[in-house]
Amino acid sequence: MKIGFIGVGKMASAIISGLNTTSHDIIISGSSLARSREIAELLEVEAAESHQALIDEADLVILGIKPQLFDRLLPELTFTKPIMSMAAGVTLDRLAALTNPELPLIRIMPNLNAQILQSSTAICSNQHVSESLLTAAKEITDSFGTTFDIAEKDFDNFTALAGSSPAYIALFIEALAKAGVKNGFGKTQALDIVTQTVKATAEHLLKSADKPNDLIDKVASPGGTTIAGLMDLERTGLTHSVCSAIDKTIEKSKSL
Ligand code: NAP
Repeated sequence: MKIGFIGVGKMASAIISGLNTTSHDIIISGSSLARSREIAELLEVEAAESHQALIDEADLVILGIKPQLFDRLLPELTFTKPIMSMAAGVTLDRLAALTNPELPLIRIMPNLNAQILQSSTAICSNQHVSESLLTAAKEITDSFGTTFDIAEKDFDNFTALAGSSPAYIALFIEALAKAGVKNGFGKTQALDIVTQTVKATAEHLLKSADKPNDLIDKVASPGGTTIAGLMDLERTGLTHSVCSAIDKTIEKSKSL
């Protein structure tokens, strides 16, 4: 399949590094012909002469531009091929209205971990997408991480849990490291210790049968250090605080 990208910034470049591990051909079109040629050389892919030329050549068009550009750019083009959009807040209905309502349309929500080919990516599609096209689309999203079938009504929820949460998890890591510094570790050493522990804890949950509560019970021995810390985290409302932040994220995502 020949896959065309209109707009090649952080996220599309990450996706292309995943796609480079597959046998698909890639063609790109950036903000200008000069930019297309520059990026194409860097990513070792083909540059299109224009967005329209890209649409004509590609079997699938992936939109890597910012949502704010959609209203201005898309109606100027004649879309004749299936489209995949990664734009936050742009629904399949809106995409259909801006392109061609008869076309197969796929919406995805990747996260920044696509840069290390470990994105958690949501996918949904309209009624024109065939079984085989959806399978091909999932092969693309699997090339840069893990794909989750998510109903479009839940995309805002997914955006909070997987799109924004890397920032919240990084904040937690930063807070733990600061606590280490407060008690005498150097910052670099504290960050190394905490980051490795967070990574291993996530892997432990993914690889073993343990649920988070099982792991908590195993670490918290009776009358020990961990239960003292856990009680304090709940006194200051960690679960409520996280839930409230996710609610705020969903609220913002719905308002875009
Ligand atoms: P980005 O790095 O700013 O990339 C946007 C790209 O669009 C830039 O390379 C820009 O080129 C290009 N562009 C601007 N005008 C254009 C035009 N007229 N024609 C073609 N290309 C044009 O943004 P991003 O973070 O990759 O985001 C891209 C999409 O991914 C957005 O829809 C966003 O909602 C979605 N997304 C991003 C993330 C994330 O974590 N970043 C997560 C989920 C979804 P120049 O550099 O030459 O201006």
